[in-house]
Amino acid sequence: MAKNRKPQVNPNGKQRPDKKGGFGWGWLYMIIIAVLLGSYFFSDGIQQKDITYTQLQSYIENDVVESLTVYDNGTVKAVVREAEKTVVFGEAADKHPDRNITVAIPTVEEFNKYMTDINQKRKADGKQNIDMQFEKSRDWWYLILVNVLPFVLIIFFFVWMSRGVSGSMGGGGIFGVGKAKAELFDRDKKDKVTFKDVAGLEGAKQEVEEIVSFLKNPKKYTNLGGKIPKGALLVGPPGTGKTLLAKAVAGEADVPFFSMSGSDFVEMFVGVGASRVRDLFRQAKEKAPSIIFIDEIDAVGRARGKNIISGGNDERESTLNQLLTEMDGFGTNSGVIILAATNRADVLDSALLRAGRFDRQIHIELPDLQERKEIFAVHLKPLKLDASVDVNLLAKQTPGFSGADIANVCNEAALIAARNDHKAVGRQDFMDAVDRIIGGLERKTKIMTEEEKRAIAYHEAGHATISWMLRWANPLVKVTIVPRGMALGAAWYLPEERQITNREHLLDEMCATLGGRAAEEKFLNQTGTGALNDLERVTKQAYAMVAYYGMGKTMPNLSYYDSQGKYEYGFTKPYSEKTAEKMDKEVADIIAEQMKRAKQLLQQYAEGHHQIAELLIEKEVITAEDVERILGPRPWKSRQDEIINS
Ligand code: ADP
Repeated sequence: MAKNRKPQVNPNGKQRPDKKGGFGWGWLYMIIIAVLLGSYFFSDGIQQKDITYTQLQSYIENDVVESLTVYDNGTVKAVVREAEKTVVFGEAADKHPDRNITVAIPTVEEFNKYMTDINQKRKADGKQNIDMQFEKSRDWWYLILVNVLPFVLIIFFFVWMSRGVSGSMGGGGIFGVGKAKAELFDRDKKDKVTFKDVAGLEGAKQEVEEIVSFLKNPKKYTNLGGKIPKGALLVGPPGTGKTLLAKAVAGEADVPFFSMSGSDFVEMFVGVGASRVRDLFRQAKEKAPSIIFIDEIDAVGRARGKNIISGGNDERESTLNQLLTEMDGFGTNSGVIILAATNRADVLDSALLRAGRFDRQIHIELPDLQERKEIFAVHLKPLKLDASVDVNLLAKQTPGFSGADIANVCNEAALIAARNDHKAVGRQDFMDAVDRIIGGLERKTKIMTEEEKRAIAYHEAGHATISWMLRWANPLVKVTIVPRGMALGAAWYLPEERQITNREHLLDEMCATLGGRAAEEKFLNQTGTGALNDLERVTKQAYAMVAYYGMGKTMPNLSYYDSQGKYEYGFTKPYSEKTAEKMDKEVADIIAEQMKRAKQLLQQYAEGHHQIAELLIEKEVITAEDVERILGPRPWKSRQDEIINS
């Protein structure tokens, strides 16, 4: 809710009162309450009739009154006898089933005296006393509380419900469903993001900087006959800084910036998405030059279905159609530029990707070593560090980490340091943070028998030995048999950052991954379930080699990879059963061959393997240095080392 109520900022930067506050729901509720209260007080709902004191006296004396209630505030409620109703109420008697009349009396004492006289008289006449009781007066507030509060509570309940629903529907209550609730960035905000906060991503930054400059100075480009692009699509894995980059554009460009997530368009009501798209573009055009940013555009931009039978998701398709229409609908120079981000460009509809809509696709990759260093530099700035922290080492220790992971490592390291009462964040805190993010929390309390521990140590030592000896296996960092997250033991590697992976690379990696089970079988003569993870990885890799990369011996250069994520005409697999069988055989052969190779290597380095395993049982965690001491220096230098040391 808070989001929708936030005051918006117009292009001049001045605060503008929130329009929705004008004739809002508040007024409507007030009117409803007033009407209810009014009808309560002015209707015949309170079945009472006011009369004068003299009238009451005459009713009492004529035996019209059945009982009396005297209140301490000087009023009396009298109940009229059923038979005498018409005497008091006349024609309207039916409207007064309660037969109540209320009267103001001079004082309670006086009335009491009067009634004593009356009752004496009645006694003399042989009549019964008139029933009389005294009560504390119920004042006005009491009446309101008892009679009105339940209504008010019910009304507020409905108000609250409808607000809750409208909040989740995009604000403006039920009538505002079709409105786009784009967030308008406040350029005067103190913690706004600028290009300085985005580390690395040089190419991407340059492209978006150009977009900012288009908007700031369109003449420079249009004078030469160029057209300003309509949109740019940021594509890349999650956490690589796409949203951050868009926020930086908002911070840098001096134009209104509308930000919305793809999923905000999608609603359970048909037609809402399309009308939100229309509304968003209308708002943006009103304030042109401006930027629209749609995060996670794949939520609406998925390829439209070809299959007529299944029908597809009509609502999403009509939203997408509207988006396509709107992107075509304004002239190139109207000054609205669309930025969108996704990590699934492959599932986007091709119409969305054609030039003229998203003219530019900006690919953002996971950061490489140098970029990780820069990202670390950004996120280390607010931390209090001690001298042991080395950015080079941190960048080296975090291959495959995205910008978001790195931000997480820095934060986690600070938390770990605080937990251990350190004065500043040190190198070990970062190492623990990295371990924790890769492997999950250590579970030292997990109970294991000596035998199980031994099996895990032999398994992990198998990985360590083989990866140490193979040229293309990833270089080892450390091995542990302390259970962490779901794993019972783990070997950490520094994956080499290659652009192209060869058959040899894949086979060496597979051999090292199989090393765990190979060691268990060879030295302990047992086959355990602990290798599940390894086997899954190896099998998938082998299938990828055969079916995608065309590396099968009997079926080379064939790839059944489908970059679009869908085979046309509903084929589930575009090859025959025979080919499938051939593939299965290839995969089984590859794995068997690597298993054999792993066992041979273990045979060759059996002594080293045993020492590593025993050391693991003793110390639980060993590092690459320990392995180096046992097996000697690694015969191959890793490329990483070369890069870092260069
Ligand atoms: P996504 O690509 O999924 O949109 P975000 O832009 O939301 O990723 O990034 C999440 C967080 O990761 C950012 O808030 C920022 O802290 C950090 N981050 C990611 N990339 C970078 C980068 N290049 N420089 C600095 N911080 C980054």
